[in-house]
Parts: sequence; C-alpha cells; structure tokens
Amino acid sequence: MSSDAHSGGELFVIAGPSGSGKTSLIAALLERHSGLALSVSDTTRPPRAGEIDGEHYHFISEDEFRAGVAEGVYLEHASVFGRFYGTRRDRVEAMWKTGRDVLLEIDVQGAEQVRRAHRQTCAIFILPPSLEELEKRLRGRGSDSDDVITRRLGEARREIAVGRRFDWLVPNDRFDDALADLLAVVRAWPRRNSAGQPLIEELLDARGNNSTMKD
Ligand code: 5GP
Repeated sequence: MSSDAHSGGELFVIAGPSGSGKTSLIAALLERHSGLALSVSDTTRPPRAGEIDGEHYHFISEDEFRAGVAEGVYLEHASVFGRFYGTRRDRVEAMWKTGRDVLLEIDVQGAEQVRRAHRQTCAIFILPPSLEELEKRLRGRGSDSDDVITRRLGEARREIAVGRRFDWLVPNDRFDDALADLLAVVRAWPRRNSAGQPLIEELLDARGNNSTMKD
C-alpha cells in the first residue's frame, strides 16, 4: 500500500495550543457534521475527573504504549507534557470503512507525522486571539499552578510557530465565527481538485454519450 492509499475517507487534523478552545469547537463541529468521526487516542496520562475510558481516551499503561509503538500500531504518536499519546491506525481505518471521514485532535508533533504519512491530510490550526487572551483563558480554568501556566504559554508559542505549516488557520476570537470557518473547510476540502474528483469527466462523458450534436 502506498503511503497515501487508504480506504477512502478524508483525514482532518485539528491542532492548537492548550486554551485555544479547540476541544469545544470540535464538539460543536461533530454535532453539525454527521459524516465526521473523532478518533479516540491512547494515552498514558491518568484520567481526569469525569473522563471515561474509551470515550475521551483509551487510558493505557506505559508498557502497553511502548509495546504498541514497537508493533507499529500507531499512525502517529508523541510525548506531550511528559505523557504519551497516540492514534491507532486500525481505529482510523475502521471509521473510514464505515464511510466516515476521520478527525484527529492531536498536538503539532503528531500532526506533522500524519501529514508526512498521508499527504492528502487537511491540517487545521486553531489560533487564540492573542497570547494575552490565551493566558487569561488558562488562568480562568483555575486548574493549573503559575509554573504550569508559564510552561503552557511557552509551549503555546512553539506550537503556534509550527502552525505556519498548516493548510488552514482558524482564529478563535468569536466561537460562532470559528465554527463557521471550520464547517466551511470540512465541507469544501473533499472538493479540492487534487482529490481526483471525477466530476468534470462525468459531466463531459455524459454530454458525449447523450448528445447527438457534434462539437
Ligand atoms: P490533554 O491531556 O489535555 O487531553 O491533551 C494534551 C495534548 O495532547 C493536546 O494538545 C491534545 O491535542 C494532544 N493529544 C491528544 N491525543 C493525541 C494523540 O493521539 N496524538 C498526539 N500527537 N497528540 C494528542
């Protein structure tokens, strides 16, 4: 199988720094676009309050994760804030087989790996309105210490710089506008010419077959 061959569906990657609002945007996008399915990642971090195994993540041990990496089960994997995260290839393929397009919510390291493996990936980066606003949002969560917030802000700057290489940049100043942008991208992406659409050939063939006129 060539690196770009797969069972048909599209692959969307959405990344953005912690505090960019990407998780809420993705939840709203999935509600409005039924052809899209979110891949549930493996992680070695412990579940947070309210997180359900198999729904938010598959929570696995480091040994299990390392074994998976050795067996090549991951389409991409990365270490984020000292924990491992990975997207299993078989889960993505299973969703493609049911006719759905697949969405990955992953970090920038993972996004780069996916883009290298599947050149037809649509990579979308969610931008915060400003770094000041990002800091405000992170502090507003009230869940992290000053140290952690400083670390996350430094990480955010590095991630935003990688965003330069993404296909689409979606600023999340106003939630509804950002969601409208995301919907537009997800709807338009399968219509790109490089997807090898048969539309033009179908149209021309139909005319050739049905018409008695000689052009
Ligand atoms: P959290 O632990 O807060 O849920 O996620 C931390 C970061 O890991 C987020 O940027 C999230 O997008 C990223 N992440 C979640 N799952 C994956 C994955 O499967 N692969 C990669 N590379 N990053 C992931």
